[in-house]
Amino acid sequence: MLGGAGDESRFLVEFALSPSSVLKIQKGDITQWFIDGSSDAIVNAANERMLGGGGVDGAIHRAAGLELKEACYEVPEVQPGVRCPTGEARITLGFKLPASHVIHTVGPIYDADSDPESSLRNAHRNSLRVAKENNIQYIAFPAISCGVYRYPHEEAATIAISTVKEFGIDLKEVHFVLFSDDIYDIWVKKANELVGK
Ligand code: ADP
Repeated sequence: MLGGAGDESRFLVEFALSPSSVLKIQKGDITQWFIDGSSDAIVNAANERMLGGGGVDGAIHRAAGLELKEACYEVPEVQPGVRCPTGEARITLGFKLPASHVIHTVGPIYDADSDPESSLRNAHRNSLRVAKENNIQYIAFPAISCGVYRYPHEEAATIAISTVKEFGIDLKEVHFVLFSDDIYDIWVKKANELVGK
């Protein structure tokens, strides 16, 4: 684990994923996040309709403006009411967001999914795949499924971090931008176990 200096370092830790790829875990509001405004993307914990919702999804749509909803509307339905099935990912521009792109993925509803672990792993893996296909170098994830979808946070952290460790090494930086102290602490602990040292 590499430390930083100053007050912000209390809520930002870094780990090397490879000689050319860094994992950063920080506390904050993902709608404010960006690196270069051209090859960066935030991941949205969307729902299958992709037309907005509560939690981080609502915050992203409010910050991006109505053009984001219009862009999502243009994403073809794969079945009635489904633009992005659970575990898959779609990309749009970021419009009024500081980040250039939004990668929309759908995590599992923990109590309703027949295999929530695979679905959560796929949501992370497919977001990273879509990022690479679109030449994104910097990506930021929220804690997908850890809000109203009620995934147990420790298990979600293990899946999120192990998937990024395996499939994130082609990107320059993979960030987790986490809203609450308790989820931030869990992510840092798991990253130390799975990536650190
Ligand atoms: P899900 O439906 O996938 O559970 P939620 O939006 O309900 O998604 O919650 C996912 C996580 O995103 C929660 O931990 C929540 O605290 C967090 N969150 C909410 N708003 C933001 C934000 N602006 N930036 C980063 N994380 C956020």
